[in-house]
Amino acid sequence: MKMDILIENARIITGFAGAMYAGRGFIGITGDEITYVGETAPEKTEVRKRIDAGRMIAMPGLMNAHTHSPMVLMRNYAADRTLDDWLYKSIIPIENKLTREHIRNGSMLAIAEMIKSGTTAFLDMYFDVDCTAEAALEAGIRANVSLGLLTSHNMNNGLEDAKAFCRKFYSRYHGAGNGLLRTSLEVHSVYLYNEGTLRDSAEFAAETGMTVNIHLHETKSEVERAYGEYGMSPIGICRETGLLDGPVAAAHTVWLTDQDMDIIKEKKVVPVHNPSSNMYLASGFAPVPEMLAKGIRVALGTDGAASNNDLDMFGEMHIAGLIHKGRTLDPTAVSAENVIEMACANGAQAMGFGASGTIRTGNKADIILVDADGLHNVPMLNPVNAMVYSTSGADVDTVIINGRTVMENRRLMTMDEEKIRYNLKKSASELFNI
Ligand SMILES: [Zn+2]
Repeated sequence: MKMDILIENARIITGFAGAMYAGRGFIGITGDEITYVGETAPEKTEVRKRIDAGRMIAMPGLMNAHTHSPMVLMRNYAADRTLDDWLYKSIIPIENKLTREHIRNGSMLAIAEMIKSGTTAFLDMYFDVDCTAEAALEAGIRANVSLGLLTSHNMNNGLEDAKAFCRKFYSRYHGAGNGLLRTSLEVHSVYLYNEGTLRDSAEFAAETGMTVNIHLHETKSEVERAYGEYGMSPIGICRETGLLDGPVAAAHTVWLTDQDMDIIKEKKVVPVHNPSSNMYLASGFAPVPEMLAKGIRVALGTDGAASNNDLDMFGEMHIAGLIHKGRTLDPTAVSAENVIEMACANGAQAMGFGASGTIRTGNKADIILVDADGLHNVPMLNPVNAMVYSTSGADVDTVIINGRTVMENRRLMTMDEEKIRYNLKKSASELFNI
């Protein structure tokens, strides 16, 4: 047998519930695939590159299932204010000034930041999304990039023109980069779409087979508005219009009744938990323990950096592991194992990258190596607990995506960190006159 990479003697977190930690072992990679997982070294194997991972934890790459990558441009610009103030007085005025160059520079920095903190795939929604798709291809990161009928002023010439605009984007990027990229249909939210555009989007999702990427039940006022307008909840009107008939990734899902959760379960919607953003904008606590109890697969995301304010999924895992204990007064409400499943396998499901998110033979080689020897992680008594409760993104040492090493010893291999930093600062100085 021939292998391109053999990770030796790592502590392995598999990503599988019930068998989350596999002890020390070896992981072999050939091409873009995991071709060996075992406690001992594979026999009679020619290996191109060996990685001594004795002080590392190997785990599936993290899947950031909801973000708006170019929003790193507005990181820390507005804080400690209401969602309406934050959005309408701070964020949107800056967004109105954004050029394609700004969006490209923002995407590049966001992707570099994500790789450096162990994220190997992200689900993105923004404007001029081809800039983000190109940046992802250049970096070699897995991404699912959304474009919808109302985005990028493409509805000005009517529905057929908007559909053609979207189709062109999907056909160019869905499956691009040896399967690294996927595309999806953005339906921003029930409050920015009317019933007609929701129905058009549902039909278009069915026609194209795209996953629907939507913000759903984020705030109390969104839910109240939908009841006022439609006499039902936002997810109720989504079901009614047919939007839930294919795969759906629904960000936030904070204000849910038991019936709303039953719809999520019945329609196999993947809710994406964004705890930092929900705390930052005081949206509330998503009922994650309640959803897990119903057998719903919940994914995890950072949301944009303007409401987080970074893209470190380890930070997100930490918060997701803690806040539900505090809210429910039950320390067993969400376990470390639950959180890793959310950040890995469930995120892969949300984005349509089913062969990622777990470490097993035949899966795509999306693997991170995390330094287990930082002072804050010693002694390493329980790697699963450590990943959620005491590790940060800065502990990630090596990142492999689709079999390609994109970071080694914390050095980015496919991106020029200095140039990315310089370009981002230049864009920010134009946007904020600094
Ligand atoms: Zn969002």
